[in-house]
Amino acid sequence: QSKLQGKNTFRFYSEEMETEVSTRLRLEVDLQQALKRDELSIHYQPIIDNQSGKMVGMEALLRWEHSKLGYISPGTFIPIAEEIGLIEQIGNWVLRNACYKAKYWQDQGYPPVKLSVNLSALQLKNNAIVQRVNNILEETKLEPKWLELEITESSVMENKDKVIQILKQLRQLGVSVAIDDFGIGYSSLNSLESLPIDTLKIDKTFVGKLEEKTSDVILSAILDLAEKLKLTVVAEGIETEEQHRYLKEKYCHKLQGFLFSQPLNEEWFGNFLERLK
Ligand code: C2E
Ligand code: MG
Ligand code: MG
Ligand code: MG
Repeated sequence: QSKLQGKNTFRFYSEEMETEVSTRLRLEVDLQQALKRDELSIHYQPIIDNQSGKMVGMEALLRWEHSKLGYISPGTFIPIAEEIGLIEQIGNWVLRNACYKAKYWQDQGYPPVKLSVNLSALQLKNNAIVQRVNNILEETKLEPKWLELEITESSVMENKDKVIQILKQLRQLGVSVAIDDFGIGYSSLNSLESLPIDTLKIDKTFVGKLEEKTSDVILSAILDLAEKLKLTVVAEGIETEEQHRYLKEKYCHKLQGFLFSQPLNEEWFGNFLERLK
């Protein structure tokens, strides 16, 4: 009996693994075609000023609608794009399209807001990103002051000296730089001081667990530091009025989360802007 069980167990695992591997392979193959097949799009999530309650920014978030599998989250496909060498191409596509759109909305007469675009760690490995950003700004005619590039804490820490050089050059172009998902990485708080950045985006895990004393303590420590370093602070993942109220009194300039709006497709974001006009 134990032999049979062993056999079944083996089969069970092997089938599961096979499914996992083939889904993964399929995503790898299909992602190569996704751009051409027009399956990628960009959604925009409003970012709100904590004082005035007005929209002051929007974050570009990549979406993949797979023809057979439906919605695939960026958390799943961005790492795949990185591994198979597609992130550069996809990242450039996002940057160019989002900058075009931001400029287009400004030209439509909507109040200008800052555009935030996420960069992968791999895009920061190469100085070419500086020229690339510069070219896209020139091509799209978006003024650099309206663009903020978001990079994660871990992508800086992996290759600190090199990344610092690149960030300095990016800021010389006139764009600003934000550290995304701050607080969950491995960097010590004091290493922040040496980074040429403008903005800290506090990771949503801290906002989501504010009722827990430890989150409150950590968040307060981060906000104190940000204030000393005169960084702009954005809190992500605000879902409840309670979290909103808590942050109202804090050193926190901007707010982002489902409480204000989900990320919206181009058309819906356009409608959203129209109502603000
Ligand atoms: P992120 O840059 O930290 O983006 C914020 C994520 O939080 C988004 O997830 C957004 O939909 C989600 N979010 C916003 N408000 C709330 C809220 O109130 N509650 C909760 N639970 N979540 C909220 P999304 O769109 O699934 O993106 C996940 C991550 O994928 C992003 O995290 C970013 O790291 C990456 N990503 C997305 N687009 C791009 C891109 O164009 N390039 C690169 N390199 N990475 C991207
Ligand atoms: Mg981000
Ligand atoms: Mg984040
Ligand atoms: Mg994140």
